[in-house]
Amino acid sequence: MNKQTIITALLALVSLTCLAQTANDYWIAADKALAAGNTDSTFYYLNLFREHFGRQYAAAYTTFLTDEDYRILHNDARWTAFMDSMRIYKHEAEDKLEIVYPRKTVMEDSNVPTVNRYDIQLDIDVEKKTLAVSATAQIDFKGRECIDFTLWKHSVVNHIRYKKKDLAYTFDSTEKSTNHYIQQGAPLRLFAPNSKGNCKVTLEYTCNLDSLDSWMSSMEKDWIQLGYYMAWFPINSDSRDFTANVSVSINENYMVSGSGIVERHGKKWEMSQPWGGFDLQIVASPNLKSKKMTDEGRTFEVIYTDFADADADSALVACNKALQFYTRLFKTNPSNNYMKFLVVPGRGGGISRKNFIAYTARRFNENFKTAIGHEMGHFWWNKAPTFSWEDWLNEGFAEFSMLWYIKCHFSRHIFDCYLEACRENARHACPIYEVDRDAPEAYDALYNKGALLLYDLSQKVGEEKFFGFMQGVAEREITSTEKLLKYAENTLGRDEKEWIENRLKL
Ligand SMILES: [Zn+2]
Repeated sequence: MNKQTIITALLALVSLTCLAQTANDYWIAADKALAAGNTDSTFYYLNLFREHFGRQYAAAYTTFLTDEDYRILHNDARWTAFMDSMRIYKHEAEDKLEIVYPRKTVMEDSNVPTVNRYDIQLDIDVEKKTLAVSATAQIDFKGRECIDFTLWKHSVVNHIRYKKKDLAYTFDSTEKSTNHYIQQGAPLRLFAPNSKGNCKVTLEYTCNLDSLDSWMSSMEKDWIQLGYYMAWFPINSDSRDFTANVSVSINENYMVSGSGIVERHGKKWEMSQPWGGFDLQIVASPNLKSKKMTDEGRTFEVIYTDFADADADSALVACNKALQFYTRLFKTNPSNNYMKFLVVPGRGGGISRKNFIAYTARRFNENFKTAIGHEMGHFWWNKAPTFSWEDWLNEGFAEFSMLWYIKCHFSRHIFDCYLEACRENARHACPIYEVDRDAPEAYDALYNKGALLLYDLSQKVGEEKFFGFMQGVAEREITSTEKLLKYAENTLGRDEKEWIENRLKL
């Protein structure tokens, strides 16, 4: 080794030790080593991660459990040692913390003003990064003085009118958003006209999206995504069930899609959302592609940009396969007949609305397949209210469906990994019963604890009895836990009913 080589090597070492200091750096280094097929380096970085950040990021244990890329290491003794140590860290960290249990009973103020429908003209200027919006909202004031909205903070309101007369409102773009899902929003308060009843109110405003930096939102030339999280339309947090029509105009070479049914009419794109919901997602790109599959009257659509055509085909095939599987398993026919998967370019995350999923992915992989397993589960499990703890009847059941889909389509080892991840995610979660749906703690309770409850029930009563019960729940379109427990008592007996009730409150 000459002097030059030694210096270079030393410099590399210095830069490595200086740079590789965050948990993410170690993780990325491990990922890179893994991709290069260098097992020793992978374990070297994984162990650095564990030594320096293992306790802090102990929850990553479940991510490691199901990460498909790391599976080739599972037979290595070093992997077992790494995972055993991570699990111990996780349990130690959890056992020190008290379980946070935010509660909210279903008793809702049914007399709050809501929006029942929107009819919107949306002009998108890609070059200027601006929107011009003319929105008619059918508002039921229910005798109240005003209704509160959140609107994109860099908006200029031209006017708000009822029966061609100006309506009083307050909008201060410097005021902090009151909706914690919409960080870049500002409060808009609208005062009711004298009647304080059902009113068609027209709002005209423009939005400047230069500084857009919100979750699941984008105003870049190759990817435009507008929706709830940046409040391009006035969002009232009590309005969960409105229908809508959005007429979009945009630069000529752009293709448009969204959370409703989208059709092109000349220069405009018409999106109708005839089913109730709380979001209006609009996406556009010059490279937007679509693939559809219709089978026995059911249509799946995949919308994508930076995603291989062959992968879009695979996604459609997987949707159909999951649908056939669940039809055999739950006997009843699915209550949905339309599902659109939007493949979002970028890293991480997804959102789920009625008949519409936006999922971040670059390729069709195991994660994508399991996401399909969950989402297709909602073709059966979508009847309970989504904004209370009763949502476990949707999410817990869909997550359980996914687990069973994995059990029947993947190897035993893979299933064991997912089941353990579910158990570990549920381990320190708060009870399902009356958990506040809006609190972050609700996720593990409704999804993981819910799925695990069903899985454990299947093992307790036996698969035949269990799936007979599930078929009955699907057939009866059970929408509340009270009805579920009554049905459980009738079919499985009093002991099992009490067992379910206890698990919900545990
Ligand atoms: Zn779901």
